[in-house]
Amino acid sequence: MPFTRLTPDLLARFRALVDEKGSFVAREDMEKYASDETEDLVFWPELVLRPTTAEEVAAILRLAHESNVPVTPRGAGTGLSGGALPVEGGICLCLERMNRILEIDTDNLMAVVEPGVITEAFQNEVEKLGLFYPPDPASRGSCMLGGNVAHNSGGPRAVKYGVTKDWVYGLQAVLPTGEIIETGGKLIKNVTGYNLTQLLVGSEGTLAVVTRITVKLTPLPKYTRLLLAPFDSPEAAARAISSFFQHKIIPTALEYLERAAVEAAERRLGRTYPVPPCAALTLIALDGNDPATLDRDVERVGELCIEGGAADVFLADTPEKQRDIWQIRRSTGEAVKSISIYKEEDTVVPRARLPELVRLIWAVTKKYGITAISYGHAGDGNLHCNILKMDMSDERWERDLPVAIAEIFRGVVALGGTISGEHGVGWVQRPYIGIAKSEVELALLRRIKAAFDPRGILNPSKIF
Ligand SMILES: Cc1cc2nc3c(=O)[nH]c(=O)nc-3n(C[C@H](O)[C@H](O)[C@H](O)COP(=O)(O)OP(=O)(O)OC[C@H]3O[C@@H](n4cnc5c(N)ncnc54)[C@H](O)[C@@H]3O)c2cc1C
Repeated sequence: MPFTRLTPDLLARFRALVDEKGSFVAREDMEKYASDETEDLVFWPELVLRPTTAEEVAAILRLAHESNVPVTPRGAGTGLSGGALPVEGGICLCLERMNRILEIDTDNLMAVVEPGVITEAFQNEVEKLGLFYPPDPASRGSCMLGGNVAHNSGGPRAVKYGVTKDWVYGLQAVLPTGEIIETGGKLIKNVTGYNLTQLLVGSEGTLAVVTRITVKLTPLPKYTRLLLAPFDSPEAAARAISSFFQHKIIPTALEYLERAAVEAAERRLGRTYPVPPCAALTLIALDGNDPATLDRDVERVGELCIEGGAADVFLADTPEKQRDIWQIRRSTGEAVKSISIYKEEDTVVPRARLPELVRLIWAVTKKYGITAISYGHAGDGNLHCNILKMDMSDERWERDLPVAIAEIFRGVVALGGTISGEHGVGWVQRPYIGIAKSEVELALLRRIKAAFDPRGILNPSKIF
């Protein structure tokens, strides 16, 4: 059944469910909600609603379900797979005003937050108490915890600390039919029924709207170290990364950047990494509470890099130097995307197969004459392959690109990997999901979607 367009009567009914600051209909007010960080895609909502309570979210979804109006949840709009784009029109349901840290529970080492809290702001608050919330997407200065939950976001520290799912223990969420549910809680152990918390984490806003999040905290590590190792071949860098695990060293973060990614970020910030020019750069972070053990690991990592072919190894030994280097690293995504029209593929393989992934991406992009710049969280086997249009004709871009992307994805799956490590399937990877999932699995996913959302009003046309 086609979705209902918002008539003046329906518009008024929806707008009456929130306060006077809680809705936008004017074009200039809605502009920022018509796009996210995915390519140059723009889809206009018919109405933006910005509720402040779970009850308001529930009333909005009840009316949307009854009237068959599509609703697209949104956090900060930093997503890279088009998940927050209202591709079917209807309502953009933005959680940005639900932005309170409700509790930092130092007895249970848990915190309870609303979905609109900015990730870095939350991390800063818990760190004031000597606590740590590790998931750190490179966008953490602007993205929101609700968006992190919906995408099961990762980040550099995932190598040692895991991704968002490893820290979420409970959720309050509103079903597309308007009921409010509570899943999990401040419980380290809980096997009572299916684990709905973990089903909702990573569900990309297609099953329910998250209105409260309970996360685990851990003590903040006392000491951190950061090494930079320049290599004269990307494959040597990828092999060195795999060697740390063989030697049972688990760094906090293990990042890989091709030369063009290094140069793009340096140009954008007008600052340089403290290393000579190289074909590939690795950033290796370590943390711990015992400086002697940490320094032994630093020494061993340095030796492994040199054995693996690094020209040298540089230690950023002060917090200021480490901050500066991370700032350049975190600006890489924006810097690469500012070069040209682009498409970003979020490939992931078992970490030991990283050298093969690097070779695969090079072979396919060379075959199709495509410019690509790869960088990413290589310690997780997760490489962001940014395909740049540059001076490629529109015709070749439309014709060759989907074929090349499908070839990369088939290669990734053959390596035991999948088509998205952390950005989600959303709108842009939807055509490729059949490469990663079997028909049986896809049918099961569709039945789960239908059980939550019988009319399909919540974030329609995403994932499948
Ligand atoms: C420069 C840059 C660097 C990035 N680095 C990383 C990185 O290192 N690791 C990583 O994983 N990602 C990264 N990202 C991607 C992005 O920042 C993350 O996916 C982030 O978690 C999205 O959060 P958001 O608040 O912006 O969500 P949005 O983009 O607004 O939404 C993302 C998805 O979540 C859904 N959603 C949002 N809020 C809710 C809610 N309350 N309930 C239900 N569904 C909801 C939306 O419908 C959408 O499907 C990066 C992006 C940029 C631009």
